[in-house]
Amino acid sequence: MRLIDAQKILQDYFGYADFRSGQKELLSLISEGKNTLGIMPTGGGKSLCYQIPGILLDGTAIIISPLISLMKDQVDSLHTLGVKATYINSSLTSEEYNERMRLLSEGYYDLIYVAPERFDSPFFLTTINKLQISFIAFDEAHCISQWGHDFRPSYRSIIDTINQLTQIPFRLALTATATQEVIEDIQRLLSIDDQSVVNTGFYRDNLHFHVVKGQNKQDFLINYISQHRQESGIIYAPTRKLVESIHAKLIKEGFRAAYYHAGLAEDVRRNEQNRFINDQVEIMVATNAFGMGIDKSNVRYVIHYSLPMNIEAYYQEAGRAGRDGEVSNCILLFSGQDSHLQSFLIEQSELDEEMKALEYKKLRAMINYCHTDKCLPCYILDYFGEKNPYHDCGHCTNCTDQSEKVDRTRDAQMVLSCVMRMEQRFGATLTAKVLKGSKDKKIKQFELDQLSTYGLMKERTEKQITEFIHFLVAEGYLSTGSDRFPILQLTQKAADVLKNKEQVWMRQTEIQQVAETDFDPELFERFRELRKQIATEEKIPPYVVFSDATLKDLCRY
Ligand code: ADP
Ligand code: MG
Ligand code: ZN
Repeated sequence: MRLIDAQKILQDYFGYADFRSGQKELLSLISEGKNTLGIMPTGGGKSLCYQIPGILLDGTAIIISPLISLMKDQVDSLHTLGVKATYINSSLTSEEYNERMRLLSEGYYDLIYVAPERFDSPFFLTTINKLQISFIAFDEAHCISQWGHDFRPSYRSIIDTINQLTQIPFRLALTATATQEVIEDIQRLLSIDDQSVVNTGFYRDNLHFHVVKGQNKQDFLINYISQHRQESGIIYAPTRKLVESIHAKLIKEGFRAAYYHAGLAEDVRRNEQNRFINDQVEIMVATNAFGMGIDKSNVRYVIHYSLPMNIEAYYQEAGRAGRDGEVSNCILLFSGQDSHLQSFLIEQSELDEEMKALEYKKLRAMINYCHTDKCLPCYILDYFGEKNPYHDCGHCTNCTDQSEKVDRTRDAQMVLSCVMRMEQRFGATLTAKVLKGSKDKKIKQFELDQLSTYGLMKERTEKQITEFIHFLVAEGYLSTGSDRFPILQLTQKAADVLKNKEQVWMRQTEIQQVAETDFDPELFERFRELRKQIATEEKIPPYVVFSDATLKDLCRY
């Protein structure tokens, strides 16, 4: 395969003038027959990187993809371009299946799409064993790695089988989300050397990031979509129940919206998804079950109604906006209580302790995203360890916030010295109580009212103090370790503040914010039960269990 031929296919078949960044580099490695890994942003054009070689190289290309819906869409559009492509999966009738297997065995196809489970079929294996294969591609390759946020065991388990297929010239892996661990995992599993990794980074400057705090979420939502009526958008909510209630609310308000979650029947899901993709409705309200492999290019906004589990998941979901390159908004509605739901989900998961600790750490980075003063996409790039060529994106909440910055060094010193007096053994909630001078019984229990910092910030509310502590964590003055219970600890930066070597500045708007409460009552009940249970097993130190007042506050809904 020569690059010049690839260029010709790009123009003649697909009608595009030039390659996008990364595509050419990938195709050139592919033309050398190397095992290759491509990391490109969502909407970056990864599909072309296997479609073009599929068309050009002799033999049949096998594309492994986790999502059945995506296969059909891609095959349909390849057919309109006159490419010999098909998919083989469980949705076929037996006639269709037999016909496609027959054509496959005759070497008719340039590309076939299969789900990983297909490799469990002995008939499929014997067929492709006799076949001339041009290469195997793993789309959404992060699913191979258990470090990825969407690990699929079926993806991992086929690697041995594929390693035994000696007639496969090379493998190609493609993904949009990959932390260093995931990248290394993919390389190791598919034998891809460092020179054969093309990483364009995943910064997308058409995405404008926003964090909305201290506002009624529902009001904000209705207001926002009213002002963007003609635009297509996705609203992600954390629970099925919330998806249904938001959807019902939107319908009642006269918006055209579909909904989607894993609790719906397959045909309902399919139908709702199609209504959205075909622009019959503008809005999709969904849990995170929706979206993988969805190729809808004109999504103008993605709103998260609550905190996602981690930055990886957030970036992937938010990244479903603006695949056509047009400016699009990624908005996260945050309230302080949101993190409890995610903690609960981690707590309740079947992960072992080590993995849980890792998930907590990732969740904490997600929470920090909502509290930071930094440019938001820069924060995300830092998180992924990407070299960040931009200091400020100029569009995000933090870059556009004109409000004045206020010197809060003295307040910070109060908090930091309180953390020190409390011997770095407690979390934000109790620290705030001490600073407030609360009469909470845990204060008495640990004799914290004897501390010199007790009541030091009594003119502020506990909530304000807690928010301020979160801000100090987000800005790196305090750390919370990777333990499941975020115990506050001082950092080097904190030492500098305490010694008056560094000042702490905070935006005026940040100071006024008071988080509202918005919680799924049913889930919360379960959460409370679980907490009680664990507390009686004495696994959780008593000060981590919520006070009755906090419980009431959470239940307000
Ligand atoms: P992803 O990397 O997320 O898999 P896709 O392969 O689905 O992205 O491509 C996203 C969109 O970009 C598609 O509509 C595709 O046709 C378009 N595209 C891909 N390559 C180019 C290119 N070189 N020029 C213009 N548009 C392109
Ligand atoms: Mg893709
Ligand atoms: Zn910015």
